[in-house]
Amino acid sequence: MTVIRLADLIRDRGPAVVLTGAGISTESGIPDFRSPTGIWARYDPQEYATIEAFRADPVKVWSFYALRFRALTEAEPNAGHLALAELERTGHVSTVVTQNIDLLHERAGSRDVVEVHGSIRTSTCPGCGARYGIDEVLRLLERESAPGCRECGAVLKPDVIFFGELMPEAAIDRAYELARSTRLLLVVGSGLEVWPVSQLPEETRREGGVVAIVNRGPTTFDDRAVVKIDGGAGETLTALVREVAS
Ligand SMILES: [Zn+2]
Repeated sequence: MTVIRLADLIRDRGPAVVLTGAGISTESGIPDFRSPTGIWARYDPQEYATIEAFRADPVKVWSFYALRFRALTEAEPNAGHLALAELERTGHVSTVVTQNIDLLHERAGSRDVVEVHGSIRTSTCPGCGARYGIDEVLRLLERESAPGCRECGAVLKPDVIFFGELMPEAAIDRAYELARSTRLLLVVGSGLEVWPVSQLPEETRREGGVVAIVNRGPTTFDDRAVVKIDGGAGETLTALVREVAS
């Protein structure tokens, strides 16, 4: 049983650094934007997710982000998120590095979360730099189609990383540092196709750590992982919690 092998690894080499992607949130009803039925099949990323598109027409981009903010805040953490929070409480996981912007790790109870693609937690005014929390942005969205800054009137930008935008440096640096220093990197729900997470498993391996993967479908690191479980995050991580406790 590979879950047993994974539990052995986490006991021997833990606490693990966990790397999560869209695949952990699909069980909360949040579509993976890379899947053929994902949101980007309906919304062309060139028109809605590039920094150029936002600068050219922020109101149009918010017509998409308003839907997304609502969908993400109405979603609930699933068994996979809860299992990772539990593994952190029991000392088997140190940190979750995530590509997801949905805040579901935090809402599930994970305390140390590194968000390499930003998140919907805040939005910032490109005009004056004022920062708005998500509750305020959601309130503004009830009244207007694109949230405007109360100080200067400019349309706010969600603090998620748009295509063509620089990644948050502090989060990226921390993710690399964690990958290099951990003895076990556990990848969950990511095909490891997108920078920077695509590079992190090799960083771990180069420094003598090992990589385990839980993902439906292939990833770019399968041939170098010591454990690969082709399965859902919720089911697999729930079984892992039980196994490490036994
Ligand atoms: Zn402003």
